[in-house]
Amino acid sequence: MIRILVILLGCYIAWRLIRGLLRKKARTEAMPEGPRGRIDDVMVKDPQCGTYVARRDGIVEKTPEGELVFCSRECREKYLAGQKRSEG
Ligand SMILES: [Zn+2]
Repeated sequence: MIRILVILLGCYIAWRLIRGLLRKKARTEAMPEGPRGRIDDVMVKDPQCGTYVARRDGIVEKTPEGELVFCSRECREKYLAGQKRSEG
């Protein structure tokens, strides 16, 4: 009686392992080409006026300190003017 139980248990474990392997394989094979919702839509704070702007919608300015995103050209110009003033 116990032997049957052990065999059944062994079968069950083997089945689970095989299923797990198959699932893993299927998951890696069925990789989507690109995510549906693009993740590059990051919200960044405009350092001039404090508004949060989507990175791709805003005006990106590369500075030595890093990338800044502005909601409008006006903000960018104001900010850069302010930076220059503080430098000189
Ligand atoms: Zn702004």
